[in-house]
Amino acid sequence: MPEPVKMELRDTFNRKIDYIRVSVTDRCNLRCMYCMPPSGPPRCLKPSRILKTEKLLQFLEVARKYGLKKVRITGGEPLLRKDITEIVRAIRDIGVEDLSLTTNGQLLPLFAGRLRAAGLDRVNVSMDSLRPERYREITGGGDLQNVLRAIELAEAAGLAPVKINMIPIRGVNDDEVLEFAALTLKKDWHVRFIELMPVGKKPAARGASSLDGRRVTADELKAAIRAAGELFPMGRSGSSANFRLAGGRGVIGFISPMSDHFCDSCNRLRITAAGRIRPCLFSGCEVDIGAASSEKEMEQLLLYSVRSKEKGSLLQKGVPCGAMSQVGG
Ligand code: SAM
Ligand code: SF4
Repeated sequence: MPEPVKMELRDTFNRKIDYIRVSVTDRCNLRCMYCMPPSGPPRCLKPSRILKTEKLLQFLEVARKYGLKKVRITGGEPLLRKDITEIVRAIRDIGVEDLSLTTNGQLLPLFAGRLRAAGLDRVNVSMDSLRPERYREITGGGDLQNVLRAIELAEAAGLAPVKINMIPIRGVNDDEVLEFAALTLKKDWHVRFIELMPVGKKPAARGASSLDGRRVTADELKAAIRAAGELFPMGRSGSSANFRLAGGRGVIGFISPMSDHFCDSCNRLRITAAGRIRPCLFSGCEVDIGAASSEKEMEQLLLYSVRSKEKGSLLQKGVPCGAMSQVGG
């Protein structure tokens, strides 16, 4: 039985921190054009550099005593971890209220039932096109059929509501926005449009292949969808501003880290696959969980990371974050 929560974490801007995003691997079976830097896929960590599951769990236990409510498992591709089901079960046993996982869906057909049985609540599945050939190009070799099957099986397993992450890229897949929005008419899925963020180092070094000029903003997307049907506001959930189409069953979410950042309500910390706590995706400050040798030290690292959280807008200041597969998107 998990111990009752005694304390809560507040950062220096009085934001309550109760959400941790955990990257369990930096490896991936895809090569999405917006995730990997134009200079090519980064070198993956040696297995010995990945944070030991035992330490991760110890840290999450400490965070739970300070009010941790929500954990999202991500990567790289988290389903490449052979022990992913055990990780899910162990985090569930810590007693968090909400446990979800973000995946590219390629392996999810094999795992959906097992993950649900292990205590996973929900999945976010990344899917950037409904056209097989285009999907393959965007992801560097992914199979759309696997993702569609994954969504079906996730829903059948009770990993609901299924959330679909779509990154519109001008001239690449932005002509599919209405089709994605229309998915919410028949299904109670959440289709979340995410603004493209810059990856890699400084803009100048990103070079000609950079997608920087191809971002489609949330306002542009809303205008395009509104021209086809009325959008009813449903409030925010975390970083997503939610709407429903007239007659729709599902939700359309807009996540706008670039045009309208949500730093004021940020409630999260991140842990990279190497076990470094990042107060923000764009934070230069990282502390190493692996270096802590006792619960007391873990507690100190947790409190230090929370105190180090910036007010926000680091992205707008042009601070680079490195490849999402490394940091954990
Ligand atoms: N491999 C899994 C997947 O693709 O869902 C989990 C890790 S991925 C880094 C997590 C999320 O980050 C995905 O939804 C992906 O679309 C998003 N992401 C990756 N690169 C991004 C970028 N440059 N801008 C915005 N979102 C990005
Ligand atoms: Fe694509 Fe996710 Fe892999 Fe990045 S980590 S390349 S977003 S599948």
